[in-house]
Amino acid sequence: MKKLAALNINFDSMAECLKLSGIPVKITEIKDPSFFEIADRFFNIANQLGVKLTIYIIAQDLLNKDNFKQVRKWAESGHEIGNHTFSHPQNLAELGKKEISKEIKQAHNIIGDCIGYAPKGFISPAWSYSPVQAEILTELHYDYDTSLFSSFLMPLVQLKLRLQSQVNKQTIPVIRKDLYGSLFGSRQPYFVSKERPWSNHTKIGNLIMLPLPMTKCRIPIWHSMSFIFSKKQYEKALNSALDTSDCFYYLMHPADLVDPSTDCNQLSPAIKNIERFNIPLTQKLEHLTTALKIISKKCTFVTMSELANRQRKSLNA
Ligand SMILES: [Zn+2]
Repeated sequence: MKKLAALNINFDSMAECLKLSGIPVKITEIKDPSFFEIADRFFNIANQLGVKLTIYIIAQDLLNKDNFKQVRKWAESGHEIGNHTFSHPQNLAELGKKEISKEIKQAHNIIGDCIGYAPKGFISPAWSYSPVQAEILTELHYDYDTSLFSSFLMPLVQLKLRLQSQVNKQTIPVIRKDLYGSLFGSRQPYFVSKERPWSNHTKIGNLIMLPLPMTKCRIPIWHSMSFIFSKKQYEKALNSALDTSDCFYYLMHPADLVDPSTDCNQLSPAIKNIERFNIPLTQKLEHLTTALKIISKKCTFVTMSELANRQRKSLNA
């Protein structure tokens, strides 16, 4: 029998990418192609595969009424919409409890209003993770969190984010409070609580952690990595993560399918600084279809909530 897998998008919009480049953006006025042309490319691929996507939204993007209408449509057509905080602070876990709570709850309410039901899944910006988060998500009856990046490569990923960001670099610490989780956290799904945030806990609630899939040697696998490895290396790593992870999902970003020649002509030229922006769309499409072909050989696609429910059953068994 094939494994289950989900296809996820951390919806870091073009507006968010501009903000990271230090460009002030008026969310209510910007025409953000990530909610239109770019999203449609992901939906075309999903339709061809007969898959519903799971999309984690930065709630402040929904203050724009065109974005709001689009996300409502996506939810109505059966795609799962999750919570990716209100304003996408890269240092979420370093903030105080009050601020973390505000980021998660404000997003919870805005996204809930948009899609007509309470979101059930969460991922933090830059996989920033803290016990406080577990407490708040439990309080809001979330089914799952996918914020754990249990790999020694976390400081390198942080360093890269910090070098790329044009905004206050202090908000992207290289050594973070949650380093313990990156080094010693579980690689497989587990029941999570604020007392045991990094590994399995005797079940006290509903919340489960679905860590980012890894290869046998703890190389994290998400689509951005396909632009770093050679094609052959990446195929090998992806297959290893598929075989190693009890709960496999494939994480993508809008930047993975930006067309540099047409999509962002109305936006500030600073958008060209975002990672892999200048790679032609044909090449980006080839990367994604190659990866999805490998995954679909071994897996049947479901949404993250379905994947989490299946995991919960097997953890309870
Ligand atoms: Zn993000």
